[in-house]
Amino acid sequence: MNPPATRKPAQVFCIANQKGGVGKTTTAINLAAALSTHGKRVLLIDLDPQGNATMGSGINKNTVEKNLYQVLIGTATITEARVRSEAGAYDVLPANRELSGAEIDLVQMEDREQQLKQAISLIIDEYDFILIDCPPTLSLLTLNGLASAHGVIIPMQCEYFALEGLSDLVNTVKRVHRNINPELHLIGLLRVMFDPRVTLQQQVSAQIETHFGDKVFKSIVPRNVRLAEAPSHGLPGIVYDKNSRGAKAYIEFGNELIKRIKQEAAQAGA
Ligand code: ATP
Ligand code: MG
Repeated sequence: MNPPATRKPAQVFCIANQKGGVGKTTTAINLAAALSTHGKRVLLIDLDPQGNATMGSGINKNTVEKNLYQVLIGTATITEARVRSEAGAYDVLPANRELSGAEIDLVQMEDREQQLKQAISLIIDEYDFILIDCPPTLSLLTLNGLASAHGVIIPMQCEYFALEGLSDLVNTVKRVHRNINPELHLIGLLRVMFDPRVTLQQQVSAQIETHFGDKVFKSIVPRNVRLAEAPSHGLPGIVYDKNSRGAKAYIEFGNELIKRIKQEAAQAGA
């Protein structure tokens, strides 16, 4: 492992999809844990007032001293608010219901969509990856996430309406890229909760490949009950049962992401 001084600042990725319950938080938690198994220094930012990424990382959202809300309104720094997920071996910037008030406070602030980016800039050198678990909305909170990120990872279920919702998100990413954050780009689409026995899912999966080509990750996360059980134990799925099919898929996804980033960096340098 290189000494920290020679490392580059973190890559910041949003895990986003405005559709609810599509596997964003499950992906964020398991990707954070998978990257940390590679010796990467990872911060998981919980940008959702539901606080599911916090709880699923084994941190009690109701007893944390500080949370993302204070960071966004400027009364705490990330250094003061972050906590360690011992379960996943990564840091967490926790969230809870308080964060829903941030929308109202932010509206009155200057640079209201840049607050998270400014907070991240102070600690970006301390990590290799910063993952942001977005809420199921295209709100000011999500905008703060997109304004802070280099890339977006979109988990999606292969269902009939999936592609329709996707175009809204892809258009939002393009708009943010144009107007707020020129660094932002789509990293890729991850098919999750996949059941190959369902013909419609196979068809939608093939459609996604046709539309998005190389932007579709080869790794596919199956529907797997062990992944759904893990959060109630405060553990990432890949720690809860590392031999489950779901865990293996997320470990594979972590490997694929690291490989893809290396390739992109090599192409950019060429
Ligand atoms: P929200 O939009 O509410 O933030 P989300 O997109 O973050 O939801 P998750 O919370 O990750 O979605 O997942 C929704 C539900 O599906 C959870 O109960 C989760 O445990 C379960 N789940 C996620 N991925 C899988 C999977 N691959 N197999 C089985 N269950 C899964
Ligand atoms: Mg979620």
